Amino acid sequence: MKTKALVLLSGGLDSLLAAKVLLDQGIDVTGLVFCGLFFTPDQAKKMAAQLEINLKIVDFSQEHLNIVLKPKYGYGKGANPCIDCHILMLKMAKEIMQKEGYDFVATGEVIGQRPMSQSAKKIKLVEQEADLKGCLLRPLCAKNLEPTIAENKGLVDREKLLDITGRSRKRQNQLAIDSGIKEMPSPNSGCILTEVKFGELVRKLKKMKKKASANDILMLKTGRHEFVGDCLLIISHNQAEGQELATLIQPGDISIESLNYPGPLAVIRSFGDNTQAILRAKEIVKQRSKKGAEKQDFEYKILNH
Ligand code: SF4
Repeated sequence: MKTKALVLLSGGLDSLLAAKVLLDQGIDVTGLVFCGLFFTPDQAKKMAAQLEINLKIVDFSQEHLNIVLKPKYGYGKGANPCIDCHILMLKMAKEIMQKEGYDFVATGEVIGQRPMSQSAKKIKLVEQEADLKGCLLRPLCAKNLEPTIAENKGLVDREKLLDITGRSRKRQNQLAIDSGIKEMPSPNSGCILTEVKFGELVRKLKKMKKKASANDILMLKTGRHEFVGDCLLIISHNQAEGQELATLIQPGDISIESLNYPGPLAVIRSFGDNTQAILRAKEIVKQRSKKGAEKQDFEYKILNH
C-alpha cells in the first residue's frame, strides 16, 4: 500500500516544494489548508491544482480568532500569533491524520527561515505542543533533524529529503526550477495579521479593552480607524465597506451617517466617555458626504443601537 502524507499547504513556495519532494518519491500526498477571518485558501488551491493533488480545506475561524485574542507565545511584527497558529494547525492536522489514516504530517518549514516561528528551538516547541513527535516530517530540512517514524520504517527515503537551512531562498528557487514548477507563489503570506498597521490597531484596541471580543477585532478589518477618547471610531471608505460595517454593529454602538446626502457610515464603539468621538464622527461624516459639506440642510442620522 502506498505511503500517505498529509501536507500543510500554506500557499507559499516552501510547502509546495515539500509536497513535490514527497510526490517525487511516489508518496500519496493530500494537501491541507486552513482558512479563517484573516486569510483565504486561494493560493493553496492554485498550488494543489498545479501539483494535481487533492486539497482539504478546513475553516478554523473561531479557533484561530481565540489565539489571535490571547496568544500564549505572543505576536510577530503585526498581530500574528504564528507560533500558536502553527501549533493549532498541527493539532488539527494530527486529528485528521489519525482519523483518516495518513502515515505522517508534513510541512514546508525550514530551520532558520523565519526568526519567529522557524528557529530550531521553535520548530521543536511547536512539534511538542502539537503532540506530533516523530510524526511530523519537514522534507526541506529533514536531514538536519532527527529521523521521523516514517523514515525509520522506510516509508520515506531519507536520502531523497533535503538539508536546507537559513534565510536564503537560493536552494528553494533552484529546486522550483529543477522541479518544473510553472507558477511561483507570491512570497506574501496573505495573512492580514502580519501587517504592521493592522497589528498596531489590535494592540491599541487591546489596551482600551482587555478582553476584546471577536467582533471588536473584526471591526478592525474594514474601513478607516481612529481611537478617540475612550472609543474606537470606524468610518467606511465606500458603500461596500459601509454595508460590511453595518453587519458588525453591536448593541451599545452608535452609528452616524448623513440623512440626506450620500456618504460614509461611522460607527462608534464606546469603552467609556463618547463625547469626543461623536463630535469627530460627525465632522468626518459631513466632510466626506458628497456635496453635503457645504449645504445648510445637511442632517445626521444618529442611531444608538
Ligand atoms: S502568518 Fe497568519 S496564518 Fe500564517 S502562521 Fe502567522 S498567524 Fe498563522
